[in-house]
Amino acid sequence: MTTSGSSGTGADSSGFRGEFPSATPTTRRIAEGLSLPACERRRVLDSEGIDLRKLSRLLTQDNGQQSPFLIRRTQQFERRVLSNGMADVIDLARRELDLRIEEVKQSVIDAASIRDAVPGLTPDQVDRQRADRTAAYLRDMLTQPSVAVNLLQKPLIRLRLGGREVLVEQDLMVCAAANETVHLVDIESFAEIDGYLDPEQVGQTMAACAVAVISLRQMATTMGVDPKRISDRMLLVTPSQTGFTPVGRLLNLSHHIARLEVLIDNLDRLCDANGLADELGATGAPGANLPAMPLTPGTDDWAAAERRAWEAISPLATHLTEACMSCPMFRACRREAQTTRSVTVLGTGAAQEAGGVFSVTRSIELANGATPASPAEAGIAAALVRARLATEAAMRTVAVAPANEAESEDVEDEGGAVS
Ligand code: SF4
Repeated sequence: MTTSGSSGTGADSSGFRGEFPSATPTTRRIAEGLSLPACERRRVLDSEGIDLRKLSRLLTQDNGQQSPFLIRRTQQFERRVLSNGMADVIDLARRELDLRIEEVKQSVIDAASIRDAVPGLTPDQVDRQRADRTAAYLRDMLTQPSVAVNLLQKPLIRLRLGGREVLVEQDLMVCAAANETVHLVDIESFAEIDGYLDPEQVGQTMAACAVAVISLRQMATTMGVDPKRISDRMLLVTPSQTGFTPVGRLLNLSHHIARLEVLIDNLDRLCDANGLADELGATGAPGANLPAMPLTPGTDDWAAAERRAWEAISPLATHLTEACMSCPMFRACRREAQTTRSVTVLGTGAAQEAGGVFSVTRSIELANGATPASPAEAGIAAALVRARLATEAAMRTVAVAPANEAESEDVEDEGGAVS
């Protein structure tokens, strides 16, 4: 089965996604999903290609939009980098990656250029054409580099993931080929200030690019080419200081690739085709699929779709931790945890301590001496009672201390008056 990206209009009325919009998976989203392996909800939503931002918006009515200033800055930087035949990128690639590019031959494989060339295609067909062209260009880059293009902009790559094929893209990624090797060049708008880049942003970018390298290596292997010719050394291009002058930084992805390959292997074992079907079948009752995305917040249609979406995703187990902050579903899952008084709202440490007790309400009942209803509750009940007694004793001490202090101050005041 191929999970193809579309611009959000494709419908799968028979499956869990129903008529809810899909989204083309990005390398960033896949790296993020692989790093959250304990969450069944995220795994199922990802494997169905569901647009997580739109689903979160339906469930919370929160747009979660970036600041207009950041969006404008990103667009301005992209325009600068792509202008003049990507001359800046080529210079940086020659300098930082030591690429011997004699003559620049470049191609762009974005959706607009496919639609211009072949009008009337559906979004899924556009994606397939982009993926086919990416594969053809990559084959030429690896097998006949002297005549192939050496700069490929907006490739759409194929990744084997969880027993299926996924089409994946990255916002602004370029494949640069020379010396019989293909390197990734990733263009990001976060700035390098005084030679310093935000380590969190760099880490997320490296994980996303590692997914791209893994998928390009899978494609090279199916072409009978040594996958190591897709290099683990990449070039990150960012703006310098507060302006738009691009600067390059060489990054080594080998650790990220090794870590993500293990996670992909684990997912393959977990989600073979039958396993995934069982998992989805186990989620629920007839009609437990997602609704179509309503148009206007605050309407009855929206409220009905929101209820139906909660019914569909509630049976999927979550694993809410601090690592979830980067997940597009975070606001929705946190709201659900607050509404159900889940112990996860108290933080990962408290949730781990609570063991098999999942709600704050039940924890308080057990702390007040309620009889445990299961071995899991019995395991934590005694500790909760001890914690309540210790807290009450501490509160009594705090309540008595100010009274004593007040008394001693009175005595001192009296003494002062006498002298
Ligand atoms: S935010 Fe929700 S869906 Fe995303 S990983 Fe966390 S628990 Fe899972």
